[in-house]
Amino acid sequence: MKKLIQKLAINLLRHTSQRYGVITKIPSSQQETDEVPTPTRNEDNAPANDNSALNNDTPELRKTSLQRVHETISHCRKCPLAEHRKNTVPGHGSLDARVFVIGEAPGMAEDKEGVPFVGASGQYLNKWLATIPLNRERDVFITNIAKCRPPQNRNPSATEVQACIGYLHEQITLVQPDVIFVLGRVAAHAILDTGASLRELRTHIHRYNDRIPLLVSYHPSAVLRDPSLRRPVWNDLQMLKELL
Ligand code: SF4
Repeated sequence: MKKLIQKLAINLLRHTSQRYGVITKIPSSQQETDEVPTPTRNEDNAPANDNSALNNDTPELRKTSLQRVHETISHCRKCPLAEHRKNTVPGHGSLDARVFVIGEAPGMAEDKEGVPFVGASGQYLNKWLATIPLNRERDVFITNIAKCRPPQNRNPSATEVQACIGYLHEQITLVQPDVIFVLGRVAAHAILDTGASLRELRTHIHRYNDRIPLLVSYHPSAVLRDPSLRRPVWNDLQMLKELL
C-alpha cells in the first residue's frame, strides 16, 4: 500500500509538472527508489526539522507548545525591531491548517492589532484563499518571517530575519501543514535562503526540509499596486489547489 501511495504521489507531481511546465523538485535518489514522501499529513512521516520533538505530541500538547512559542515572541527583544513595535504579531490561524502562509513582516494595521494580514493586503489575501476554496480561520495558518513591524514598513534586515526565523520553523513544525505558500520576494529569500528572482522562484514546487511542498507567489500588496500580476497569482493559486 505504501508503495502504491508513493507511486500515486510521483504521478501527481509529474502531472502537475507537465500541466504547468514547471520543474518539480524530486531528489534523484527518490526517483531511483520510488521513495518520494507524500505531500499529505501523515503521522508516519519523518519529522519536519530539527525541532521534531515538538510535532509528535497530541493536539492539546501541540496547542500548548504553539501558545508557548507565541508567548516567547511577545517578550522577545532579540533584534532592534522590538524597540518600535506596539504589538508582536506571532501568527494566526488553525493548528490543523492545511496551508501555511508566510509574508515578510507586519505593517501598521498588523502592529496595531497584533494579527497578521488585517489591512487591505489581508482582505485581498482572503479573497484569493476563498477562490480555491480555503477558509482563513479553518484551513490556513498565517504568519510573517519577522514578528515585529520594521519602521516605515522597510524590509526586515538580514540580521533581523536571522534573529526571528527560528520562531517560524517552530510554528511550521507544530502546525504540520500540507503546503507552504510564501508571499513576496523578501519572505521567499528568507525561507529558501536564495537571492533568485520571484520570476525564477514561482511555478516551482520547492520542498521545505525536503518534505513539505512549498510554493512562491507575489505579495498581495504588490498585486494591488500592479493588476497585471493578477493572472500569474491565479495560476499560482490553481497550483496550490492541485497540491491539496
Ligand atoms: S522581530 Fe522577531 S527576533 Fe526581532 S524582536 Fe520581534 S520577535 Fe524578536
